[in-house]
Amino acid sequence: MSDYRLNALSNIKTGLAQKSHVENGSKISEIFGENVFSLQAMMEYLAEGTYYKMVSVIKQNTKIDVETAENVAKGMKKWAMDNGATHYSHWFQPLTGKTAEKHDAFYKPSLGGAVNGIESLSAAELVQREPDASSFPNGGLRSTSLARGYTIWDPSSPAFILETENGKTLCVPAIFISYTKESLDYKTPLLKSSELINIAATEVCHYFDKNVNNVIATLGWEQEYFLVDENLYNARPDLILTGRTLFGCNSAKHQQMEDHYFGSIPERVQKYMVDFEKESLRLGIPISTRHNEVAPGQYECAPIFEELNVAVDHNLLLMDVMNRVAQKHGLRVLFHEKPFAGVNGSGKHNNWSLATDKGKNLLSPGVNPSSNLYFLTFFINIIKAIDTYSDVLRASIASTANDHRLGANEAPPAIISIFTGSRLQEVVEKFKNSGLEIAEPDEKEIVDLKIPKIPEYKIDNTDRNRTSPFPFTGNKFEFRAVGSSANCSASMTTLNTIVAKQLIEFKKSVDILIEKGLSSKDAIVEVLKSYLKESERIIFNGDGYSKEWEKEASKRGLSNQKSTPEALSAFLSDEAKKLFIETGIFNEEEIYARYNIQIEKYIKEIEIEANVYSELVHTHILPPAYNTLKKYIDIQQGLINIGIEKGADNVKKDIESLYSDIEELKNAVNLMQQQKDKALAKKDHSEQAKYLADKVKPIFDTIRNVCDKLELLIDDNEWKFPKYRELLYLK
Ligand code: ADP
Ligand code: MG
Repeated sequence: MSDYRLNALSNIKTGLAQKSHVENGSKISEIFGENVFSLQAMMEYLAEGTYYKMVSVIKQNTKIDVETAENVAKGMKKWAMDNGATHYSHWFQPLTGKTAEKHDAFYKPSLGGAVNGIESLSAAELVQREPDASSFPNGGLRSTSLARGYTIWDPSSPAFILETENGKTLCVPAIFISYTKESLDYKTPLLKSSELINIAATEVCHYFDKNVNNVIATLGWEQEYFLVDENLYNARPDLILTGRTLFGCNSAKHQQMEDHYFGSIPERVQKYMVDFEKESLRLGIPISTRHNEVAPGQYECAPIFEELNVAVDHNLLLMDVMNRVAQKHGLRVLFHEKPFAGVNGSGKHNNWSLATDKGKNLLSPGVNPSSNLYFLTFFINIIKAIDTYSDVLRASIASTANDHRLGANEAPPAIISIFTGSRLQEVVEKFKNSGLEIAEPDEKEIVDLKIPKIPEYKIDNTDRNRTSPFPFTGNKFEFRAVGSSANCSASMTTLNTIVAKQLIEFKKSVDILIEKGLSSKDAIVEVLKSYLKESERIIFNGDGYSKEWEKEASKRGLSNQKSTPEALSAFLSDEAKKLFIETGIFNEEEIYARYNIQIEKYIKEIEIEANVYSELVHTHILPPAYNTLKKYIDIQQGLINIGIEKGADNVKKDIESLYSDIEELKNAVNLMQQQKDKALAKKDHSEQAKYLADKVKPIFDTIRNVCDKLELLIDDNEWKFPKYRELLYLK
């Protein structure tokens, strides 16, 4: 076997020898949030007045004053130092998609030099920092000479202590803004959109309940991921450089038997899960679910839902913890949307809903949805919003990696549609035609299987649909098309904004009818009925994976944007600009900046993949292919020498076939390089990206197909890459 692969395979044992880093027996309630400057910690470390001001900042969106900030800084520093932190950092989300930190020591030397200096954190340092921002993506908002940027404390997401082998750092969640006041991050627009939907939804709530003061968006994400052994990972340059396997034919057994889903978790993986969950719980991330996913080597974890902004921060923090802890276990976690061809990809389902400060979930249908106008108001407005802005929503989940996933294997297609379930479909149909019903409570059906000892059970009045990108799942919507590596903010900002905008329009229309003399109830029913007529095309309860749906969707005028450049263009449409500018989420410069950043990212990622293909074909695939060819030629020559002409002719056919594969491969790589150069010579980023998507990416498939064919031909001992069966069946 090639030394390369043999070493990787034989080193797997070191991974197995890893011990769990968990002390047994600690209860979750004892460790939960111990690394968080939580309300509990604030109560202990802040004076009473300061504490209550912070509570109102967190719960009622009030602005923090300088004096309070000063007091919080003192308390926070003391808490952090009592817990062993020596440094502090603003923790923010630049548009790289990763989180960023710049650590500064609490320690300040004294100016005279006579004493040892002190540890301090002033309000100014807590509230505002100025990282050298020139290397973060800005999409043309700043030139390098104008690189000033500020991070500013977000008091609504709790500060925490990040603990690594190298010490402890107090991390303060922050937004990131340019000198010219444009947002350079994911958090700023998310916070703006949360305030937008708060105001819009609260006003609509007042038709039903005057006591509602605030509405928050809630998010419960489900994080899918793959695990591979670190030794095997290191023997796959494609995984290291692009996050996915560019080559590899499927293992003879992969997910056909579906015996991995919810199966028992391998012990080594379980140790890892327990370990990263413990760290996450200490950081206040309410992680609660873990299980195997559909593909071998694929897993999922999910927390209990939280307020949107905090939930997003927790997801980013979790991914960071998962990465770090994996390495302690000799594992690598893959968040890429499609690390392996032919088996399921990974998503990050975003379960989203709206809740009032009175604790009411606005998407809870209650026992009888057909007479629940409060629920129907929000439900139907969301349907209308998704229908009006489906292209903008599609743009929010576009990425190079998600292109591989959407519409393949288990994943929802790139066509945005809503699954309501048959029960709500009926409700909506009736409502559309005859308005609100005063009906009997609709109880869940009770089933008795008549098997002794087995209790009766209840059937929910909505089923699930795994094939829909945006199903309603009981009391929330589940945006399933979001990619596993994504920052949820991009899609959640868009969702908040389109729903808020829709609710604003709704209120205007209802108020006009009320002024004309209709009761608020009749006005609401009338407007909602018209919405259903306008937007029912977006509802689809069938199989979203089927070819028929593609046809049907196109008849209904729904878009099916398969590539990122195509999908992203919706962000620059007049409709999108109007939406974001009118609502104040982005100004025009910010819209272009974000578009540029995404499109440049796409270009760079495709370029990197092309270069990795080219290098690995020449250094890893062709050498053993030529060896094989040489072996065949020797055999053929040998057969001629001993007079077995017929055999020699047969081997000659194998030689011709292998030689033609090699030629095809070389030609494809050459063509890919030429087309890539042509793409990059185009003057405008949009054109470059489109050319790469249309002309270069398809050649990847040709290259891969030949390589995967060769993998089945070449002596196993000479094949350099760890194979799918080795990568996916983690021992
Ligand atoms: P699954 O979809 O895999 O069956 P669950 O039904 O348990 O999983 O829910 C998935 C996620 O949805 C969890 O994170 C859960 O906390 C979250 N969730 C439940 N209710 C809400 C809600 N009202 N708002 C937002 N997320 C919610
Ligand atoms: Mg789910």
